[in-house]
Amino acid sequence: MGERSYPCEFCDTDQPQAEKLVTVARQRRGQWFIFENVPALVCPNCGHRYFAADVLTAMEDRMKTTPEDARPITGWAMSLPQSV
Ligand SMILES: [Zn+2]
Repeated sequence: MGERSYPCEFCDTDQPQAEKLVTVARQRRGQWFIFENVPALVCPNCGHRYFAADVLTAMEDRMKTTPEDARPITGWAMSLPQSV
């Protein structure tokens, strides 16, 4: 991934984004897909995550069919009460 050091577009930080491996949750047609160890550039101030175009494309491609090599997981999905 190339170096990008321009300030975050969501906050006024002058700190450079940090290269990290993150976990990404995406949903397609009611099915959740959890991607682990996804390379991202993360703003150290606001936490916004930037993904390279080829990374986004790769995730989209993997959500088109049921993955044969994925690890099944279980989880809890819920809404918070309106009063929170
Ligand atoms: Zn930021």
